[in-house]
Amino acid sequence: MERHPYRVVITDCDHGSIEEEKEEFSRMGAELILAQVQKEEDVIRVCKEADGLLNQYALLSRRILENLPKCKVVSRYGVGVDSVDLRAATDLGIIVANVPDYCIDEVANQALSMLLGLIRKTAFFDQRVKSGQWDFRQGRPIHRLKGKTMGLIGSGKIGLEVARRIAAFGVRVIAFDPYLKKAPEGIELKDFDSLLEESDFISVHCPLNDSTRHLIGEQEFKKMEKKPFLINTSRGSIIDEKALIQALKEGRVSGAGLDVLEKEPPDLQNPLLKMENVILSPHVGFYSEESISELKRRTAKNVSDVLAKRWPASVVNREVRGKTRAPVSD
Ligand code: NAD
Repeated sequence: MERHPYRVVITDCDHGSIEEEKEEFSRMGAELILAQVQKEEDVIRVCKEADGLLNQYALLSRRILENLPKCKVVSRYGVGVDSVDLRAATDLGIIVANVPDYCIDEVANQALSMLLGLIRKTAFFDQRVKSGQWDFRQGRPIHRLKGKTMGLIGSGKIGLEVARRIAAFGVRVIAFDPYLKKAPEGIELKDFDSLLEESDFISVHCPLNDSTRHLIGEQEFKKMEKKPFLINTSRGSIIDEKALIQALKEGRVSGAGLDVLEKEPPDLQNPLLKMENVILSPHVGFYSEESISELKRRTAKNVSDVLAKRWPASVVNREVRGKTRAPVSD
């Protein structure tokens, strides 16, 4: 029987194929097992001899990690690492790595496509023409894009890409981002209220956390003087959906493009599903064939790097440095 120097287990994943992962580990002669397990006992059973794990949804609790004596690294498919008990991993000297930036282009394009679709009423006209109505006047009013103001809530990796794209249309870009010390090139930083007042379009690109949950609610909609189009490709709960529905009904907001909702998938009774000035998509922003392929390659590379005694590209629990199970260098 073939002997491998390392065993790597994919606890679970929903990508269909694992070609990229196989390629990465076959290069170093590591054995790769696709387990598709979620329950604690099952994860322990299939992973107990593993040198490294790739993980999507299966929860990796302290108890599980304590029962994996050879495990040197856990690499999460994607950005969030809520599935891993980080403190336990650090205590045990296990590196936890992620892939924070595999879909920046995709999400920025999603936001832009929703905005352009709202401004030019693409979905609205598509439905009308297909039902036999050939009349541009039904879409009135449509306004020019050039010369308008785009407000970004959060100006990190994705926000910046949105800014670069929309600037090419002759749009002024302002942003509210309390953690930025310096305005990025081409963007004016504003306080939150000024952004709400001045923006013709608002696009949300901050993370969801305790301070951003329902960041945009009834009071904020009242401050939106320009009846903006609102785009959210970040997380649904950053916007109070009930308040948004009310603002759309009252015309305080001209339309909304939402890739994310408070409840995914939404209830069929959700009024947003019936509104002609709302464009919805099923949390697809991250996805392209290329982004998923990149995600798989880089998730696997994090593990192969550690097994080859290299510090991986993106480590979440950096405090593990100096006490890792496997020696690693830069
Ligand atoms: P990032 O960390 O590079 O940028 C986030 C920015 O938000 C940072 O500049 C940060 O300072 C800022 N911020 C934090 N708290 C804020 C607040 N209270 N108000 C305003 N700004 C605040 O992240 P990113 O890569 O640009 O991703 C942004 C978000 O996009 C992610 O948090 C995620 O929720 C979402 N996302 C969605 C999809 C999708 O499929 N739709 C895919 C990937 C990411």
